[in-house]
Amino acid sequence: MFPHLKYSEDDVDGYISRVTPEMVANSLGKARHDWFDLLNLISPAAYPFMGALREAAQIARRRYYGKTVSVYAPLYIGNTCINSCRYCDFRRQHTGTVRRNLTLDEIRTEAAAVRATGIDSLLVVAGEDPRVNTVTHLAEVGQLLKGMFSNLSLEVAPQTEDGYRELFAAGYEGLTCFQETYDRDLYHEMHPAGPKADYDFRLGTQLRAGHAGFRLLGCAFLLGLGPWRREAASLAAHAFYLMRECYEAKVQFAFPRICRVEGGFVPPCEVDERDLELMMLAFRIVFPQCCMTVSTREPPAFRDRIVLTAADNMSAGSRVTPGGYAVLVGDRRHDVAQFTLSDSRTPDEVYAAIRANGQEVVFKNWDNRI
Ligand code: SF4
Repeated sequence: MFPHLKYSEDDVDGYISRVTPEMVANSLGKARHDWFDLLNLISPAAYPFMGALREAAQIARRRYYGKTVSVYAPLYIGNTCINSCRYCDFRRQHTGTVRRNLTLDEIRTEAAAVRATGIDSLLVVAGEDPRVNTVTHLAEVGQLLKGMFSNLSLEVAPQTEDGYRELFAAGYEGLTCFQETYDRDLYHEMHPAGPKADYDFRLGTQLRAGHAGFRLLGCAFLLGLGPWRREAASLAAHAFYLMRECYEAKVQFAFPRICRVEGGFVPPCEVDERDLELMMLAFRIVFPQCCMTVSTREPPAFRDRIVLTAADNMSAGSRVTPGGYAVLVGDRRHDVAQFTLSDSRTPDEVYAAIRANGQEVVFKNWDNRI
């Protein structure tokens, strides 16, 4: 569990098993919600209330985000990695992956291809390789990209607070770091070697970034590793903690599911689409002001539906291979992605689907500070 929580896994399981329909209805009727409301709304007793949850989530979402969906794209700048995450094909032991780190010129080429699609918000992603993706290098990349995009975020190895200060000064404002699992034992089983084996350093990532000035703090667990209700309870506790400690920043949720692939990692606790939707609706109701993104791992029909009720942000036209937008197009040798994409629509097709649902596409909702 999230270490600052005073309840154990057994406490959470026991509480959730005792939630009644009256408790769900009571949570739905409240104007302000706490951690126990989240537990009520993700409990099995909430299944018969799906329609009411959709309605309540849509109202909460509209209050803060209107009829808009903001869009972004990830830019993978490298896939060398010294970690050993059992579920990821970028892990250092995986020999089937062609490794590549883009040069600054290649990053510029990739970024220009993304920018040409209208995307104005970029998430820079890299594996953990301290020989290549140093703070200095990431800062150079930020300096290069900040003139091209209104907003830059990072999804790279956790850094120290000083490192985040340097990266913030270079132009990054958002940060995403999945805890993967809040269960310490399971975490060590899934991350047996490399710097990522340090559970506590990873857990403190958003706090260090928030103290360094980052204004968007992305949190998630990997759906499929541990029992999802326990993980969701920890994620909610983590979010409440960050909202207190980094009150000037905004928390962003993501709900990445491990998608089973032939011969790939078999997730021990798969999450189906009904539970994914229930969880996203519950988080939207309990955390109406927080950002929420929906992954390209999900199929188009689910993504188009969930941005009406819960998520306010989605990727469009994502490539999850370094060089996948322009540099390596047509070169199948390098076509090893970090995970399987379920939504392969072009950016224009994604924008058209958003508009067809009566929503507006938002490319930019703030100016870069610098
Ligand atoms: S999940 Fe991230 S840290 Fe782990 S092996 Fe993949 S790229 Fe490396």
